[in-house]
Amino acid sequence: MGKEIGIDLGTTNSCAAIVEGGKPRVITYKGGQSTIPSVFAIDEKGDRLVGHDAKKQAQLNPTNTVAAAKRLIGRNYHSKTIEKVKQVFTYELVEGESSEVLIKVRDQIFTLEQISSAILRKIREVAEEALGADVDQAVITVPAYFNDRQRQAVRAAGKLAGLKVLRVLNEPTAAALAYGLGKNLNQRIAVYDLGGGTFDISVIDIKERIFEVIATGGDTFLGGVDFDDRVMQWVLESFQKQHSIDLSYDRVAVQRIRDAAETAKIELSSVMRTRLHIPFISKREDGTGLDIDMELSREKLEELVGDLVERTIQTVERIYREAGAARGQIDEVLLVGGQSRMPMVQRRITEFMGKPPSKGVHPDEAVGIGASIMAHSLAGVANNDDVTLLDVLPMPIGINKTDGSMHVLFQKNQPLPDYKSRTLTTSKDNQRSIMLRIYQGESALCSENEILGTFVFNNIRPAPKGKVQIEVTFHIDSEGILNLTARDKQTGQTVESTLKLGKAKDDKPAPEPEKPVAPLPPPVAFTMPQSSMAAAIGGDAPVRPDLTEPTMGTPDAAPAPARPASLPKLASAASSDDSLWGKVTTWFRGLFAGG
Ligand code: AMP
Repeated sequence: MGKEIGIDLGTTNSCAAIVEGGKPRVITYKGGQSTIPSVFAIDEKGDRLVGHDAKKQAQLNPTNTVAAAKRLIGRNYHSKTIEKVKQVFTYELVEGESSEVLIKVRDQIFTLEQISSAILRKIREVAEEALGADVDQAVITVPAYFNDRQRQAVRAAGKLAGLKVLRVLNEPTAAALAYGLGKNLNQRIAVYDLGGGTFDISVIDIKERIFEVIATGGDTFLGGVDFDDRVMQWVLESFQKQHSIDLSYDRVAVQRIRDAAETAKIELSSVMRTRLHIPFISKREDGTGLDIDMELSREKLEELVGDLVERTIQTVERIYREAGAARGQIDEVLLVGGQSRMPMVQRRITEFMGKPPSKGVHPDEAVGIGASIMAHSLAGVANNDDVTLLDVLPMPIGINKTDGSMHVLFQKNQPLPDYKSRTLTTSKDNQRSIMLRIYQGESALCSENEILGTFVFNNIRPAPKGKVQIEVTFHIDSEGILNLTARDKQTGQTVESTLKLGKAKDDKPAPEPEKPVAPLPPPVAFTMPQSSMAAAIGGDAPVRPDLTEPTMGTPDAAPAPARPASLPKLASAASSDDSLWGKVTTWFRGLFAGG
């Protein structure tokens, strides 16, 4: 059996940690670095590069270098977020068969799970080298505000990288573990996590070894990359004003400006002014070279990004309200994520809270450290030092009603795990299938939320309309991942269901990817959760379900459990059961075929 590690899979950088001799520590690599850039590329020779090697050549090879892919994971190709991203990303996005996002690098098409798995595989390899031992189990962290699809994708990526994913853990919860474990605390804390691509805020109660999340929220599209973009836009506009040259169409120039913008932004956390100097960014009409040479002050940077920082403060206010916690009731605020090092962020938090943030955790290492503590606990190697972790659902999960509104099954901030049952009935004589769409998001309208999938219940027994009742049980596990089972109430028999990720057959058909998806060596058997099986939707034209009112409440057969009075040990209540992982689907095999 190999070792277990904690992995902070970040938008810009990733890091791994391990508990050894009862103490957690970040794994450092050759040269003492503790993080690996979350970057994947294919160079002109066709070699695949990951981490520092990929980042180093990004400026010269921007179209074949994939950075910040975590922002795309589990998203629908037609979502507004992807529309936005397409304008600023230097690499090409392609629509997959189920409206998922695929990435084209040179002539090959990759799923986001494959890109993330390449990064995870690299982390695993470097950790193995540093530790001199096999690593085959991991806890991988995700933003608390990730939805079910995004969590499943990270799980799949871990598996593809040859890791047994012990748990997908929320980043703020991991930071709280790093802060609070072993200190015998009785505190209510807030974790403000502003990383490269995402922002999360969680209110967490710590009572000795019990970590209970009270409320969580955030923005999976707000992070350091957006701060860099603001500086980049300012540079592009200034350059255009000065030279009447629009550099935004030049991908190499954009990548160079983005890198310089990030460097300047980081420098301005410790100095008041800095220079952005990028030689030979373009040419004059006479062929002579043009440089960018501009001064940027901390004051100007704060003017460019002030509204982004304010957005985070507004979210903090909202989550405190949801937690029913006044500012004075929060004992400590932990700042994690690289972007929280910006003085403006620290100043605004201090003003908002009326006291400075805690210095109790390292902003870059806390999440990885917390993940390693959890991995140690779940791998069953901890002696009497298990931790109990109670998390919440970040945003509601529900099903579509005929008027387009969402019937909420699971509420935001409700304790996990949980399950609910609903009864569907046929609305036509001899109807053979029923379709159900599942959404996650905070809007009352399904169309404004993320679609998690379209379930189709097949082979329903022929009967007059209304005479078949299908009881569907929705189970949401301790990681916030949804599974579904269905049975015919009259016969008690299980009803088979298939799931199409994203849009259903009646939505706009997706074009064929230009090239088959390229497998990442070495090949690893890949499985999808049974609940995520995709298959052709056959049978009768599916109709929207009728939800019969009498069974809309808590089911009699399967009462929804309240948070247990005696708290279960996480070590035994490990994450999603691997037995839930079914066989490879036709659809997914299709994605991996060819090369
Ligand atoms: P993380 O995802 O936690 O590794 O955070 C990475 C983000 O933090 C990137 O956008 C970095 O540019 C940003 N960052 C790192 N260090 C600093 C710093 N000292 N000041 C401001 N931003 C920083």
